Amino acid sequence: MKVPYAYLAHQFADSERIFQRVRELTETGDYTLGRPVQEFESMLAVRLGIVHAIGVGSGTDGLKLALKAAGVGPGDEVVTAANTFIATIGAINDLGARPVLVDCDDSFCLDPDKLEDVLTSRTKAIVPVHLTGNMADMPRIMAIAGAHGLPVIEDACQALMSSLDGRFAGCWGLAGVFSLHPLKFINIWGDGGVIVTNDGRIGSDLRLLRNHGLADRDTVVTLGYNSRLDSLQAVVAAHVFQTADEIVRQRNQNAKFYDTELSGLDGIRVPPRRSHVTHTFVTYQLFARDRQRLLEHCLANGVDCKVHYPVPVYLQPALRCLGYEAGRFPVADRHARTVITLPVHEYLTEEQLAYTVEVIRRFYAQGAHDASCPLH
Ligand SMILES: *Cc1c(COP(=O)(O)O)cnc(C)c1O
Repeated sequence: MKVPYAYLAHQFADSERIFQRVRELTETGDYTLGRPVQEFESMLAVRLGIVHAIGVGSGTDGLKLALKAAGVGPGDEVVTAANTFIATIGAINDLGARPVLVDCDDSFCLDPDKLEDVLTSRTKAIVPVHLTGNMADMPRIMAIAGAHGLPVIEDACQALMSSLDGRFAGCWGLAGVFSLHPLKFINIWGDGGVIVTNDGRIGSDLRLLRNHGLADRDTVVTLGYNSRLDSLQAVVAAHVFQTADEIVRQRNQNAKFYDTELSGLDGIRVPPRRSHVTHTFVTYQLFARDRQRLLEHCLANGVDCKVHYPVPVYLQPALRCLGYEAGRFPVADRHARTVITLPVHEYLTEEQLAYTVEVIRRFYAQGAHDASCPLH
């Protein structure tokens, strides 16, 4: 049996409805910041219960624009997680600011216990990352940020529709950023992103920043960027977003099945689950003893597992200039060694889920693994 990780071809096998709307778009010529973008923005804002949603060119651009609107610039320090995807750090660096990293905990998100240690007089913003579709501990992070008068920009690129105590990711800080990249939760046919905020000034600044700083056709009020969500992509986004609740439900059902079936297995540790958090399982990770051999075993048996990520971002060659030595962030290091990502998407069948469990059970039952490999 094959258990594929990729599902995009499946998801868009019947796209007649989207093509029809794209055809309508070509009849209007409304290609930049037209009606489809406005419609998707208001659809998202209403669903998340937030005032402004601003479509931008990508999640990375969204982070950059939101940080700029929050006043981040050259010489500032911006605190984020040591295990994030490179884009978070790239966005901070692009503004001339210095990324300052904090270790994660087993939620895969920034550990609030370690946050205060790194704040300095140069800290200008905090960027918690809701990695894997899980939620960072926003009540605590907001309290710490508030005590220091710092704005919080949430990197919710992997966490559209995730929530904590019923409040959505992206809706806690001054602004939140989502990615619509094909590998994210609401996926389009290329790059795109959305910034959300309840702050009127930030909202209007962001609408300017994404469109050359143009207040109208002839007036440039600030120096901005060309970073608009494509109208065509907004059509795709609106179409997929209609199914968001169903995707959350199905992925949670699949995750629950894995959690239940694998939690008792010697060699596997399921990350802690929190009942007040709705995780969206953009990726489903487990901690696994002898991870590398398990990965090879799964691949050899047709189960397309991945590792997010085998090298913690702080150890990437491009970031040596930040001066962090190997071992500086032990939890991020442990995750890089032990984490494995299972296919969890909404197109998996019950047979495929059961087979995945069976393949993993067999690996540990056969004693094929190195039992001395640490898991904690
Ligand atoms: C994907 C991602 C981004 C960047 O989003 P793009 O739309 O690909 O630019 C930023 N941060 C995190 C955590 C991501 O996973």
